[in-house]
Amino acid sequence: MDIDTLEDLAKELKNDENENVIELFEEYAKVHKISEDKLEQILSKEHDCFKCESCHKFYCYDEYSFFDEKCIYCCDTDDEEEF
Ligand SMILES: [Zn+2]
Repeated sequence: MDIDTLEDLAKELKNDENENVIELFEEYAKVHKISEDKLEQILSKEHDCFKCESCHKFYCYDEYSFFDEKCIYCCDTDDEEEF
């Protein structure tokens, strides 16, 4: 798989069939000499691609909670644990 642009990267990161998305993310940061923080910022601002700090997968805006810095699926799980 060739990932040349951030658009390609965002697409691959949000693809459910990719299991090692964090590796893709880190690899892209390394190859393009961007810090991972910076890359995360660009992806979220420009490519509708948000990193969940809990399950370390990437989601689009609809599936991500800014407040928790987690995807809605992880938020759901946390809610259940509190009850
Ligand atoms: Zn998550």
